[in-house]
Amino acid sequence: MPIINRMAELHDEITGWRREFHANPELLYDVHQTVKSVKERLLSFGCDEVVSGIGKTGVVAIIKGAKGENDGVIGLRADMDALPMHELSDKPWASRAAGIMHACGHDGHTSMLLGAAKYLAETRNFAGNVALIFQPAEEGGAGGKAMVEDGMMEQFAITEVYGMHNLPGLDIGKFAICPGAITAATDEFDIKITGHGGHAAMPHLSVDPVFTAASIITGIQSIVSRGSNPLNSLVITVTKVNGGTAYNVIPNEVMLNGTIRSLDGDTRDYAKAQLAKVASGIADAHSAKAEVTIRAGYPVTFNHQAQTDSAGRAAKLISGDERVDMDASPMMGGEDFSFMLEARPGAFIFVGNGDTAGLHHAEYDFNDSAIPHGCSYWAKLVETVMNSDAND
Ligand SMILES: [Zn+2]
Ligand SMILES: [Zn+2]
Repeated sequence: MPIINRMAELHDEITGWRREFHANPELLYDVHQTVKSVKERLLSFGCDEVVSGIGKTGVVAIIKGAKGENDGVIGLRADMDALPMHELSDKPWASRAAGIMHACGHDGHTSMLLGAAKYLAETRNFAGNVALIFQPAEEGGAGGKAMVEDGMMEQFAITEVYGMHNLPGLDIGKFAICPGAITAATDEFDIKITGHGGHAAMPHLSVDPVFTAASIITGIQSIVSRGSNPLNSLVITVTKVNGGTAYNVIPNEVMLNGTIRSLDGDTRDYAKAQLAKVASGIADAHSAKAEVTIRAGYPVTFNHQAQTDSAGRAAKLISGDERVDMDASPMMGGEDFSFMLEARPGAFIFVGNGDTAGLHHAEYDFNDSAIPHGCSYWAKLVETVMNSDAND
């Protein structure tokens, strides 16, 4: 398996960075320590430009190639933030921040992009420029959107953009990608059900919002199973139910919260419209009232064909044809790299994290064995896409 030799040499050093990030996780835009250490390293590698404060706390570094003329600027993106959850780990690099952990492997993503930066600054065996993008607030804070809205693409004249995420369950050294939708659009909903409270023993004198909520929870699944085309992926999940205070009291109100996941715009629009219609219709049938609020989350992460081909080609040069799945199934999770793909053509790829706990699990840990594969992919991608002949 032709991992780039230099990446194998850097494996221990990059693992050290990864474990340091893992031990010191930070949330959303509040990634100041991480940013400090990312910036220090980028400067020590000799990057030509290191700019921070993009999209609040994002960082972009530029490395200029030395292989001839090319007007292109390839963006490589990693995310830096952790999750608000308690880590279950007895490893020496376990989280030192109470209630915060790197449960999505962004510590690994940041370290692998730093490793690639070190190599690319040493070798510069490409034409044009590389923009290394370190974004905050991937986990629900739309940091990718903030960087795009802050003018990052224009400021650095980025022409195409690539992202990578680790995937537990995919073998170390394997990659998975597909053209088109690769992760889902995410929308959040609140349903406030208002009834009329009273004595639990006299339901006929009340309008029971708990009963109504139960009907709505089951009723809205008809949107997925009956109304939507079964060939178009859709998930509606109620994740929170809040209401009531006593065994013998029917409350006035119950609150439901949840998420809608879809892979195409028509299905997304349909689900949102139907959710409001079905919830209020069911509430009405029970003489209650349902107020539905839906907030748009992340758009679909949509891989462009030409860049998906480039990403697949680079991965195959590292791992071999049989270890790169070019027709992977999309995931119904969300990913705010989607905002960067709305701004520029590009592609998002999964790199195997091996047999570990799942993403967002308290026992998850990024697998350091993935490091040379991920770093080599970044380097090979740059060296194959950004050659002086390709864009003349
Ligand atoms: Zn995550
Ligand atoms: Zn993630």
